Amino acid sequence: MRDREVVIVGAGPVGLLLACLLAARGRDVVVLERRSGADTRSRAIGIHRPGLDALDEAGVGDRVRAEALFLEGGEVRSDGRLLASLSFRPERPILTLAQSRTDALLRGRLGALADGALLTGHTVRGVRDEGDRVRLRVESGDGGEREIAASVVVAADGVRSGIRERLGIEWRSRPKTARYAMVDVDDPGSDPRAVLYCEPTGLVESLPLPGSRRRWVVRQDAGPEAAVSAAELGAEIERRTGIRPDIGDHRTPVSFIAAQHAAREVVRGRMVLAGDAAHEISPIGGQGMNLGWSDARNLAEELCRSPIDRMPDLQRYERSVHRSGRRAHRRSAFYMSMGEPASGVALAARDALIRGLGSPAMGGWTSGLLTMRGI
Ligand SMILES: Cc1cc2nc3c(=O)[nH]c(=O)nc-3n(C[C@H](O)[C@H](O)[C@H](O)COP(=O)(O)OP(=O)(O)OC[C@H]3O[C@@H](n4cnc5c(N)ncnc54)[C@H](O)[C@@H]3O)c2cc1C
Repeated sequence: MRDREVVIVGAGPVGLLLACLLAARGRDVVVLERRSGADTRSRAIGIHRPGLDALDEAGVGDRVRAEALFLEGGEVRSDGRLLASLSFRPERPILTLAQSRTDALLRGRLGALADGALLTGHTVRGVRDEGDRVRLRVESGDGGEREIAASVVVAADGVRSGIRERLGIEWRSRPKTARYAMVDVDDPGSDPRAVLYCEPTGLVESLPLPGSRRRWVVRQDAGPEAAVSAAELGAEIERRTGIRPDIGDHRTPVSFIAAQHAAREVVRGRMVLAGDAAHEISPIGGQGMNLGWSDARNLAEELCRSPIDRMPDLQRYERSVHRSGRRAHRRSAFYMSMGEPASGVALAARDALIRGLGSPAMGGWTSGLLTMRGI
């Protein structure tokens, strides 16, 4: 394999967006992705202002807007009562689009900018920093092994980053952790507003998606990860909210642990971590992908500042990743605490806090918080 200026490991949304930004500036970049097909898992849906700015810079913002649903606002409810209602200003919208579609649009854009820059079915098995370049050992789909060298290698290989592990970079746990189940269902006549049910027995989120669909997310009891059936999830949503979504027996809800972590270092010589490899942000609040895209914008800026064969100075990038990661972690921890099971005085205090945050005096500040202002 011929040597490159930048090799990106991982064609998730962060690796793909970074590749688009670098290719648009004429950098010689390749993305190595172990999957041979697209990732069809149901994950990120929320796109906020920082994410939209990054997509615009990559040249796919208009296509994303054309396919996405614009949330008109959101409500917080508890025990049948409306606690808060917020609208999102046009300049700070929240869009929803399935991550598989966002990924597909980014893949298409990369193909248009640099045909052949995405190599699927290529798994990075080893990494060696040689001082003036980094050499990767890559296994391709046919089982053969090759080497590729680059001036800079960006590990955008996700939350379980093998490169972070090989470099021995500490993965620090941040508050909080909880277990959730979710399912995306058909929802004819769906209302373009999000509803958060902060119920005494735990959070239920109801989030509209394009194409008359809706995502339901339900906080589950602590304990080991357990599969939950469509019927069980439907019954639990009804118990907490009084609404029984039509999940259909053939859909299998997904259970996931929302955890938070940060890599202690994100730059080691010519190796750089980006996206979930650098920080895991709880999905509650929908910030992780957007934050990874902001990282990618900053990184592209730094990598294009000087000739790439010179040792790039990435201290500014590292500081910004740590700073914005801390902010996102604090916000997600707060959102998760608003959805914990609660009773008595704690529940009354939480309801009062939510009412205050949704009041006319605080509403603008709160919608800024929810739309990732300052991150
Ligand atoms: C249920 C859920 C809901 C979420 N909702 C939101 C949301 O609404 N908004 C939001 O902003 N974020 C959300 N997130 C977070 C978001 O999905 C992630 O932040 C985002 O996917 C991170 O992108 P990434 O490119 O860094 O990593 P990933 O998407 O994990 O991509 C990493 C890629 O690297 C590849 N790879 C790994 N190892 C190797 C290797 N050795 N060689 C080659 N390739 C490799 C993998 O196959 C993968 O394709 C959610 C997450 C979950 C789980």
